Amino acid sequence: MSYLLGKGTIITVDKERRIISDGAVVTNGNEIVDLGKTHEMREKYPDKEFIDASEHIIMPGFVDGHVHLAQAMIRGCADDLNLIDWLAKRVWKLQGNYNEEDGKTSAELCILEMLKSGTTTFAETLLATHYGFEGIIQTILKSGIRGALAKSIMDLSTYATKENIMDRGMVEEEEKCFAEALEMHKNWEGAGDDRVFIWLGPRPVGSSSKELLERVGEVSREKNMGIHIHFCEVREDVHFIKEHFNMGPGEFAEKIGLLGPKTLLVHGVWLEEEDINFIKKHSATVVHNPTCNMKVASGFSPVPRLLEKGVNVSLGCDGGPSNNTYDMLWEMKMAACIHKGKTLDPVVVPAEKVIEMATINGAKSLGLDHLIGSLEKGKRADIVTIDCTAPHLVPDLNPVSTVVYAANGQDINHVLVNGQMIVKQGEILTMDEEEILYKARIQSGNLLERTNLDVKSFWPTI
Ligand SMILES: [Zn+2]
Repeated sequence: MSYLLGKGTIITVDKERRIISDGAVVTNGNEIVDLGKTHEMREKYPDKEFIDASEHIIMPGFVDGHVHLAQAMIRGCADDLNLIDWLAKRVWKLQGNYNEEDGKTSAELCILEMLKSGTTTFAETLLATHYGFEGIIQTILKSGIRGALAKSIMDLSTYATKENIMDRGMVEEEEKCFAEALEMHKNWEGAGDDRVFIWLGPRPVGSSSKELLERVGEVSREKNMGIHIHFCEVREDVHFIKEHFNMGPGEFAEKIGLLGPKTLLVHGVWLEEEDINFIKKHSATVVHNPTCNMKVASGFSPVPRLLEKGVNVSLGCDGGPSNNTYDMLWEMKMAACIHKGKTLDPVVVPAEKVIEMATINGAKSLGLDHLIGSLEKGKRADIVTIDCTAPHLVPDLNPVSTVVYAANGQDINHVLVNGQMIVKQGEILTMDEEEILYKARIQSGNLLERTNLDVKSFWPTI
């Protein structure tokens, strides 16, 4: 495996943030060995397999900072509901009824969608035992994608109030959660040539005890495992912490040892200035999920302020019922637009910042910025190309603008992860697309039947 992808416009996201017109990236095995102007690279490496990327943007693969693999198969099953109903009446019920075959098919569907739309690395959380780790890990290894899987860790079956009780199928026991997370870590950390990482995925404050979260912090430090947790997603989260612990969420997270450079705080919608200071102090990351926040009506994360204060902000698509796609290009446009509308200031969250959120900031949040997140010599070859010949991408005068404001996941043409060509001219090479879509349709129908749920439109279906 050794390629010379040339004649494209390269958005490197390197330290100088260089954009190289008529550029080429040269790979050897899993690595980027060189990049520069096409004519120079072709002279220097005449024997490399040339991939013509004329009229293409070449850039680092996207890092989706917050994903639920198990939710791809319940896409469209919880629209237009508030978060508590969304969880208790639909998502918990459906996910509680998953079997291992559903867990695997949903992961396949999700990974297929991610790869075809340019996501080369993802961070998953709340991965429950009954989804079947083995099938999911094998899917990651076979597909070629890179992922950090956070095993669900829990000790309560409610969320914020006693009335919100999880479906029985979702409830797990604390000791078993930790034992399985550690076992997975021992068996799979770094598997597939640095493509599998095992993290801790505690349920949020209000649905986990303080003691459980303290234990998560201890295990994280002892084993160098990252923590991936939903944090201050809805106003009730903040009320809960203030009422029960008499302090703000940032201070609480520090006190119980949750904050560190490998902590992903997902959503962070209701963060206040004091919370932001604690997050910054510990170099934790806030994962912004703008589509989910708008769709579930959680509110606007203070992203302009987070960026101003130098907090690492990455970007995530979340899941099938809250987004309802796993398309990072779509998410970038949302991230770039919603804060302008909210603040009435068109210069906040500029397109360049959004590309950083989707690439290098995501890599940094996973402790992988020495390997991925930018196109640089010596880094792993996680590369995507965007075909700019479609009408909605012409003219491509400013590639940063094209990526953030005009392109969508279907414009992705080639995808390499660890130097392996996984998507070629829009076709997936490592997965059986037809079979996965067939299975997902059948199994999602069966799941709805088993769960006894109807998710049809309010309009009459005849
Ligand atoms: Zn989530």
